Amino acid sequence: MHAFPCGTLALDFVGTLRARRNALPREMLGAPSNLDAWFRESGLADEVTPATAADLDRAVGLREAIYGLVAARLFGEPVDQAAVALLNEVAATPPVIPQLRPSGRHVAATAPQALSSVARQAVDVLGSREADLLKECGRPECTQVYLDHSRGFRREWCAMRTCGSRMKAAAYRSRKRG
Ligand SMILES: [Zn+2]
Repeated sequence: MHAFPCGTLALDFVGTLRARRNALPREMLGAPSNLDAWFRESGLADEVTPATAADLDRAVGLREAIYGLVAARLFGEPVDQAAVALLNEVAATPPVIPQLRPSGRHVAATAPQALSSVARQAVDVLGSREADLLKECGRPECTQVYLDHSRGFRREWCAMRTCGSRMKAAAYRSRKRG
């Protein structure tokens, strides 16, 4: 199961390499079928054409390009122009196309279409004032990047339900010990 804590699919997609700044990151996109599952679970597509190994390579390349650009923002590093070029190239291809069916909205997508939709969201975030809201989760085992829309810009974790409650429990335990 994939996780979608960020409220922004482009950043959730970055999170498919879990705990990336940890010594032992966890790759959630190890096989093309993991990518298909991500597209469905994210709600980007109801039905996906099975991804190929080349689609998976492209997906991981896009993910790392997005992360590189986010990290450049977060840590004040120089922007990698190759990452910008890859992001723009993926965003320039056709995105997912919703269709109206008797059962309601339906999206059948290929991996390139779904990746284009992810890339477009990344462009929206990185190219707007939302980029000022980028943060990295404060739980050292997580390091997921997210957008802090909280009042006062005081959110410390990618998700309260997971990292926030774990950090609070750890703080409580250490207070009890101390
Ligand atoms: Zn987190």
